[in-house]
Order: sequence, then structure tokens, then C-alpha cells
Amino acid sequence: MSSDYPTRKSVGLFRNEDVGFQQNMPPDSTRIPWIDSHSHAHTGSWNDRHEFDLSGGLAVVMVASSASRAPYRPMTAEDMQSQWDVAIKRCHAISRSHFFEPYVALAVHTTRTRTENWKTLVEKLPAYAELDEVIAIGETGISLNTAQVADPWPLETQKEVVAKQMAVARDANVPFICHTPKSMKSTGDRWVRGKTESGHNLPPSDQLSTEDSLDPESAKIDATKIDVQLANEANLPESRLVIDHANEETASYVLENTDCYVGFSMYGHPSHPPIETVADTIEEYGSDRVVINTDMSGSAEQRPCALKEVILDLLRLDVSPSDVRAAVYENPRDILGLTHLPE
Ligand SMILES: [Zn+2]
Repeated sequence: MSSDYPTRKSVGLFRNEDVGFQQNMPPDSTRIPWIDSHSHAHTGSWNDRHEFDLSGGLAVVMVASSASRAPYRPMTAEDMQSQWDVAIKRCHAISRSHFFEPYVALAVHTTRTRTENWKTLVEKLPAYAELDEVIAIGETGISLNTAQVADPWPLETQKEVVAKQMAVARDANVPFICHTPKSMKSTGDRWVRGKTESGHNLPPSDQLSTEDSLDPESAKIDATKIDVQLANEANLPESRLVIDHANEETASYVLENTDCYVGFSMYGHPSHPPIETVADTIEEYGSDRVVINTDMSGSAEQRPCALKEVILDLLRLDVSPSDVRAAVYENPRDILGLTHLPE
């Protein structure tokens, strides 16, 4: 092609050839479907969910175990069960308005506040796990119980709560979405648009206690190790465990020492890792046991197209389209048993 342009004046060197740019990413390389294996999308809006369809989502797992959604303190098993039921019911309403497939994950979560009578609810969990809408147990896992949490659960009780639900996942042969807590050192102050709307309902200061808690500095990796150990003791295959909200440290630990999947929650909460962490992890360990989700929730700034943005950004970082596809689509499809969706 001629470089002699009939412009009114010289416009300098501007062509891709002139500046040494070679396009090696054909446009169809970005046409990758995605499955969000961990969201709280039922707490968002119709508009948010419409964007799932616009940006290539085929299925979304809506996690209904968040104490911040239950208004009462102390929270009871019945309060949490209502939340489960709402999510299951919403699944059908949502599917009537949109094209992606909505599913639900249920659990008794250990974060933020304890659930009174929790054992009665865990006894009901196997019957819920048989429902078509329910395709995973979660999110739950060992949490950081600091004074920032209302009515915290002692670590030993948390282990019991988590282990019993791992046994349910084992018996139902469904995956277990394992929440891991923030490590305070990695969080920093990156809030731009105000904190989440999640109410913590702090107890009076004279009732605050931090005893029997993980070390806030190392909580994420410490909790991860305990969760893996609990799964082993419960005979839940490690391949059914998604260690979620991973950071660089926990991803390396999980991929080097276990057969679990690593879940990266991206582009939502300020504690989510930078995209380079995901790219580096895939480069070092491959994409076979990496899944990417959003953990999006109506109580924080929403980015409904986050997984599409992740796809584009990983491609920009030279992650191969096949690795990106594995992490955002094929792996979650296989873990969740959504084998009716295209390969
Ligand atoms: Zn979540």
C-alpha cells in the first residue's frame, strides 16, 4: 500500500507499519463466552443482568449465603433459609427476562456474623443440593474473625460449620465454593466510590473481641490451608474445591500443593488482585485449574461486563485465547457440570 497520502499537509508517520505495530490478535479472538461461577447477581438490577447477555455470559451462579443480606441480628437459620429460598425463586424470574442461565449456590457462611441454630439448616442442605437450580455449595470457608465483625464465630466452630457442608458437597457430588478472607496487608486503601453498602452491625465496643481469630496479616493463606485440610478430612476430592478470592500467594500454594481449583474474583472489590496476577499465574502454572469470577454484588459498584473486560485485558497481556477461554468458560462449565452448554 502506498505511504503517499493526499493529505493537505504532512501528517507525519502514523500508519501501523510506520510505528512498528503488527496486529496479531484477530477480532474473533475476543468472542469468548463466559460463565460467572461466583456472583451475587440476584442482588443487582435488571440492567446489570441485561449486560451479562450483551457481553457474552452463558451462565451465572448466584451465591446466596451472605449475612449482609439478612436484616436481623442475631441471625437465625430461618433468616438464612429465607435468603436461599429468595435466590431459588429469583432464578426463575431472572431466566424469564434474560438469555443466560441463572443458577444458585447455597451455604451457611461464616463471615460477618454467626448463624444461630446453624445445624438445623445444614441438615436441610442435602435436600436443597438436589434441586436443579442449586449447582454448588458455597460460599463459605474459614473466615477472619476480627473486631470488625459483628457476633463473630470462634475458629473451632467455623471449622465444624465448614466441614459439615463439605460433607454435603461430597455426598451431592457438587463443587464447593470456598470463600477466603481478606488479608489486611494486601487490601490497602483503594476505595474510590465509597465502601460497600453491606451493613456490619458492629456490636457495642465493650463486646468486641478478637480472641480465637486468625492473624489478619496472613489470614488468607492460613484460612486456605485450613480449608484444604478440612476438605481432605471430609473426603471431599480436592478437584471439587474452588479456593476463591485468590491472590498471588494463595494461587501459588493451591496450584503447587493441591489438586484444587483457584478462583480469581476480579474487577469488583478493591481487594481483588490486579489482572497481571491472573496472567502471571496462567503463564507459570497453565490454565487447567484457574477459574475467573466477579463476586459482583448489588452492595458495591457493579461492573456487569467485568468478565468481558477480563477477557480483553488478558488478551492484551498476551495470554492465549485458549487459556482465556479455559479460565472464563471451559473450567467453570466442567466444574459446575454444565455440560449441556457448548464445548
Ligand atoms: Zn461472594
